[in-house]
Amino acid sequence: MRYKNSVDFAEAMDQKDPLKSYRRQFHIPKHNGNDCLYFTGNSLGLQPKTVKQFIDQELSNWQELAVEGHFKSKTRPWFHYHKHSKEVLARLVGAKPMEVVSMNNLTSNLHFMMVSFYRPVKSRYKILMEEGAFPSDQYAVESQIKYHGYDPKKALVELHPREGEDILRTEDIIEAIKAESDSLAMVLLPGVQYFTGQWFDIGQITKAGHQAGAYVGYDLAHAIGNVPLQLHNYNVDFAVWCSYKYLNSGPGGVSGIFVHEKHGHNSGIPRFAGWWGHNEDERFKMQKGFKPMQGADGWQLSNVNVLGSAAHLASLEIFGEVGIEALREKSLLLTGFAEFLLQSISDEKLRILTPEKENERGCQLSLLIMKNGKEVFNQLTEQGVIADWREPNLAEHGGVIRIAPVPLYNTFNDIYKFYQILKEALDE
Ligand SMILES: *Cc1c(COP(=O)(O)O)cnc(C)c1O
Repeated sequence: MRYKNSVDFAEAMDQKDPLKSYRRQFHIPKHNGNDCLYFTGNSLGLQPKTVKQFIDQELSNWQELAVEGHFKSKTRPWFHYHKHSKEVLARLVGAKPMEVVSMNNLTSNLHFMMVSFYRPVKSRYKILMEEGAFPSDQYAVESQIKYHGYDPKKALVELHPREGEDILRTEDIIEAIKAESDSLAMVLLPGVQYFTGQWFDIGQITKAGHQAGAYVGYDLAHAIGNVPLQLHNYNVDFAVWCSYKYLNSGPGGVSGIFVHEKHGHNSGIPRFAGWWGHNEDERFKMQKGFKPMQGADGWQLSNVNVLGSAAHLASLEIFGEVGIEALREKSLLLTGFAEFLLQSISDEKLRILTPEKENERGCQLSLLIMKNGKEVFNQLTEQGVIADWREPNLAEHGGVIRIAPVPLYNTFNDIYKFYQILKEALDE
């Protein structure tokens, strides 16, 4: 694509955007009466207008049927409610419907997956992850290591970029996995890294992890709904995600898990069990003796959070209709346009940390502001830009602003306006 640095170009791109109508399906927050320039869909996705109907439906069912809503609801009986999300979730992560289920919250699910897939023994006890992982994942992993009686200082292998580089090279990740092949129990990486926006090579990393004798799992918080995924074909052991970022399912919304079919049929895998994972035909017999459902469903614990799942379904309906391929097509153009404009700014003022290669990133760009980062960020906020600010690790830098142009509701014009506001702020 040959981009042009002009508002006419941005408007022409919006005109011919095949997905342009979807923006109208979302509530856009306002700033001084105008639409905000919302770039934090990687943190909390916007509300689809249909969410209200989906939740209202279940409030009515609760009001009119109460406990009978579990089976006698004319819309979606609560007993089976989680099943309605399987089809679209499976398409989003590249899985079979039986390999996915929506449940709980993200960090809880990460723990439950580690109960099954991190079972350290003296000769094989290490976990490999990236340095600077999202804090909740760090805490979860360290606490699991300690829970099993090991020392995180020895058991945790953290990858960091080469001196002077910002992102991890696939070859270095694979080397590190090989180097630990005598003692590696699990590899846990993000699909897309929350801070840098780097999209990892899930296929190659999973293969290397398996060759080293480890289980390989992914935290897809920043990947699902952002990039196309192929968990089944890549033989990934497990994955977890949340639904409130790119999946637009509301604050603290229901999470989801992937468990590969090869494990899903193995009822002997240790797990923390609950009644919702028990064979559903016998669930209400309330008998002793846990018999897991086949597939990811066998990891469920509790009955479904129906109101949260209603918001989730409303949003997934949109993803089911558009498809991740069409979203990705637009996403590449939107982010490419943002990159093109931002590259015209001097690198003494701004540097993009996110990889340049399309197959190494999703929609997010992480912008290192070299000086007075917080002032620049505050100016953006005053002008109606909603972006994300991170204090830098390196004191001499100004800080990092992350922006996520989301193909469902962001426009090329949003990007152009953002670029102009940012350029002005940097010039001051
Ligand atoms: C957003 C995010 C979380 C948040 O965890 P919750 O349990 O949903 O609060 C955890 N890990 C990663 C990588 C994230 O991006």
